[in-house]
Amino acid sequence: MTTVNAFAAPSATEPLVRTTIERREVGENDVSIAIRYSGICHSDIHLVRGDWGPVTYPQVVGHEIAGEVVAIGSAVTKFSVGERVGVGCMVNSCRECENCLAGMENYCLKGNTQTYGSVDRDGTITQGGYSSHVVVDQDFVLRIPEAIPYEAVAPLLCAGITTYSPLAHWNAGPGTKVAVVGMGGLGHLAVKIAAAKGAEVTVLSQTLSKQEDGLAFGAEHYYATSDPTTFKTLRNTFDLIINTVSSADLDFNAYLKLLRLDGTLVNVGAPPQPIPVSVFTLFGNRRSFAGSGIGSIAETQEMLDFCAEHGVAPAVEVITADQINDAYERVLGSDVRYRFVIDAATI
Ligand code: NAP
Ligand code: ZN
Ligand code: ZN
Repeated sequence: MTTVNAFAAPSATEPLVRTTIERREVGENDVSIAIRYSGICHSDIHLVRGDWGPVTYPQVVGHEIAGEVVAIGSAVTKFSVGERVGVGCMVNSCRECENCLAGMENYCLKGNTQTYGSVDRDGTITQGGYSSHVVVDQDFVLRIPEAIPYEAVAPLLCAGITTYSPLAHWNAGPGTKVAVVGMGGLGHLAVKIAAAKGAEVTVLSQTLSKQEDGLAFGAEHYYATSDPTTFKTLRNTFDLIINTVSSADLDFNAYLKLLRLDGTLVNVGAPPQPIPVSVFTLFGNRRSFAGSGIGSIAETQEMLDFCAEHGVAPAVEVITADQINDAYERVLGSDVRYRFVIDAATI
């Protein structure tokens, strides 16, 4: 075991505090990573505050990790010391179920091992990226292309893949009209990636306060959902809607009605409450309501390479570890432009 610095939530209601945690010794298939940057995902906040169920505290969160390899196990062939690497939302899976064998370990039928808050193979609870180091099996480590700025790359490991995967699966591209609901961490990357894929992108944000940024990220249209005429103007318009909103407090049927024939609304936002959807809204235009969870390791590498090739990088605000609790409040207040990234040297 190696003792490393971390920032942990002591309970659902207290601020995160500086602490130390133990990382396992580097096993034969493991890569030890010195973390340089760690993104703050809204999921981190949901989890530490107990939104999704009971948590074993203290808990270190963070699943957008960028750093350098500092040690490798004897059987590691994919990475070498000094390489720039990333880790996203999962660090293992069963590797033998139908979905794992199909290369979609994010949909592991036994549940993949999440980067934080999961029971690891040794029975301990996984601890995430708000930390100075992490030890991860090489099969769950990503190669980071040099073209993506180091301080900006971490959010691609969750926000990037979570939006890239449904955009790819539902064929966003030239000739398709894509709407992105909520322009926070996931949403701003959905805009950039969909635009890079050649789709006609519309942002549906609560207000017009971020319109200039949305258009700069590649959107062609920008509407405020607080304006009721938006829902009349855009009825039967979109092939694909990516909903990134973290709250269930939306009129989902109003959004579904914005889909044209055979259109799909994909929910990637993860509110704890069930969502009310009328089947009659789905009958019209043969609409679909779907969900999507992160992406596979292979698809995450594909996404990183796509972003490098197309010049897609998250817009980030780099913070020190002491600013994490303030950053949480700003994320909850929809005041993030557009992802907080912790400088891990300050942890
Ligand atoms: P975020 O940065 O907070 O962005 C969410 C955006 O939604 C906000 O910036 C805001 O955009 C809008 N919004 C927030 N509250 C709203 C409300 N009450 N009504 C309408 N719009 C609202 O969060 P994030 O990190 O992008 O994560 C978004 C959600 O995705 C979270 O629930 C997270 O847990 C989930 N998630 C899911 C997966 C997956 O695999 N499916 C992966 C990662 C994250 P505007 O200001 O533009 O309105
Ligand atoms: Zn996340
Ligand atoms: Zn599996």
